[in-house]
Amino acid sequence: MHNHYDILIIGAGAGGGTLAYALAPTGKRILLLERGGYLPREKSNWDPDAVFLEQRYRTDEQWYQPDGTPFSPEVHYFVGGNTKVYGAALQRMRQEDFGALQHYDGISPAWPLSYADFEPYYTQAESLFKIHGQRGEDPTEPPMSADYPYGPLAHEPRIQQIADQLSDRGLHPVHLTLALNRDEAHPEKRPCIRCDTCDPYPCLVDAKCDAQIACVDPARQYENVQLLTHALVTRLDTDASGKRIEQVEVQLNGQLQTFSAEIVVVSCGAINSAKLLLQSGNDKHPNGLANSSGLVGRNLMFHNHSALIAVADEPNPTVFQKTLGIHDYYFKGPTQDYPLGQIQLTGKAKWQRLQHMAPVEMPEATLRYLSAHSVDWWVTTEDLPRLENQVTVDRQGKITVHHQPNNTQPHADLIHLLEDHLRDLGFFLFWRKTMKSAVVWHQIGTCVLGEDPSNSVLDLNCRAHDLDNLYVVDASFFPSMGAMNPTLTLVANALRVADHFKSQLKG
Ligand SMILES: Cc1cc2nc3c(=O)[nH]c(=O)nc-3n(C[C@H](O)[C@H](O)[C@H](O)COP(=O)(O)OP(=O)(O)OC[C@H]3O[C@@H](n4cnc5c(N)ncnc54)[C@H](O)[C@@H]3O)c2cc1C
Ligand code: SF4
Repeated sequence: MHNHYDILIIGAGAGGGTLAYALAPTGKRILLLERGGYLPREKSNWDPDAVFLEQRYRTDEQWYQPDGTPFSPEVHYFVGGNTKVYGAALQRMRQEDFGALQHYDGISPAWPLSYADFEPYYTQAESLFKIHGQRGEDPTEPPMSADYPYGPLAHEPRIQQIADQLSDRGLHPVHLTLALNRDEAHPEKRPCIRCDTCDPYPCLVDAKCDAQIACVDPARQYENVQLLTHALVTRLDTDASGKRIEQVEVQLNGQLQTFSAEIVVVSCGAINSAKLLLQSGNDKHPNGLANSSGLVGRNLMFHNHSALIAVADEPNPTVFQKTLGIHDYYFKGPTQDYPLGQIQLTGKAKWQRLQHMAPVEMPEATLRYLSAHSVDWWVTTEDLPRLENQVTVDRQGKITVHHQPNNTQPHADLIHLLEDHLRDLGFFLFWRKTMKSAVVWHQIGTCVLGEDPSNSVLDLNCRAHDLDNLYVVDASFFPSMGAMNPTLTLVANALRVADHFKSQLKG
């Protein structure tokens, strides 16, 4: 095995997978190191007991709260990373999200790059992930240079009825922009069957455009791209000057091996990327690699997320429910002069899922009745970057997540607004579950990008300010997170960074 490569990418998730895909045609020798394996295709993929009760696809790692209490993080180590189980609702951040925005709890800081810098890459990302959507119906839609590659996924009758009722109330319900391989007019032509086990299940028929299907597998068609699975990167070593990564230490199927490359890209997800940098400190980098600013691990953001199960007398026989969103309150509410966030439908809550949300223990028959009559929503609002919200790692590699949610008032406002609308539509019972920090689905920040090395970790091309050949290309770079789902933006960013590499390679 050759141990030296042109480009070595650590983590085959959304960021790393996209970068490998975009750089594969350059002919450069690329090594992709992934700690997990391929997620098995098996009947359990679509089994709610396996997914919710057994948590079959989640890591059994323990992370820790600041008081030392362990928790089981909702992360998934596979080729494709967390996108193997994601909801596939891929959205552009709004133009205004790239500027400074006054929120209830403070300022969401401006990015050093504008929406215009990202726009061409959003268009490419939407093509790569086969996005379905309907342009022109969203009051917050940013300028777009191209239509969505595919038309919207239609609402089923009960959801269309709700969309019409919301429109009658002056709202602008939108079709969610979804990354599924489906042909609505000719369903036999593409694999997606619009099943009821999409979000947050793996896709048994490989129809969900996750990072494995959309990026890693196509990248592996090129001979110059090599993927090693079950390859856990434990440390990055610098040369004597401390300016270059000289070698990468890997536990490959339990054996220690080293690899080197001209360019090393860390793409382990925001928390694990921070961990790897922090645990790779040396004499030249006493506080961890790339950490002269002291910001590696800081500004950790999670969205404020709540599930809202709304029950009406009218049955809801919808199979594929995740088609509708409401963005009317993204920038302000009817009486709130500050941004609230976005509302979307989530995968249809089966009775097993409701078991976790029930305020008291309930018989299966009751849960089944509620599931058959509920419409299930997901409310997302912005979490602002805070220095004190951070990831720390001890000498044994134990991860501690210090995170206090902020900006929670707009979250409560948005849930109340949604409930008020739904009450008028005949819904009478509401169960809410606000996600705890342990959920870590939308982990963002920890290595923010910026022009000034004293207040950012990465430069505008996502290269570490402190090292010449180290890049971070995953969800770590966001200076602020907006309230849209993050993955399309980090995929667009990886395509942007790939263009930077290509121009360097030409040079
Ligand atoms: C249930 C669920 C639903 C979601 N729904 C949506 C949605 O609808 N829309 C949306 O935009 N986002 C969604 N997300 C979030 C989305 O999955 C993430 O934004 C995205 O995967 C982040 O990409 P990433 O590259 O930062 O990390 P990941 O995709 O997690 O990739 C990191 C990769 O690095 C590997 N790795 C980690 N450490 C190491 C190491 N030391 N050595 C080698 N490999 C390593 C991991 O195994 C993983 O493959 C969802 C997430 C979850 C869990
Ligand atoms: S809805 Fe389509 S993409 Fe989602 S799990 Fe079912 S078949 Fe796969």
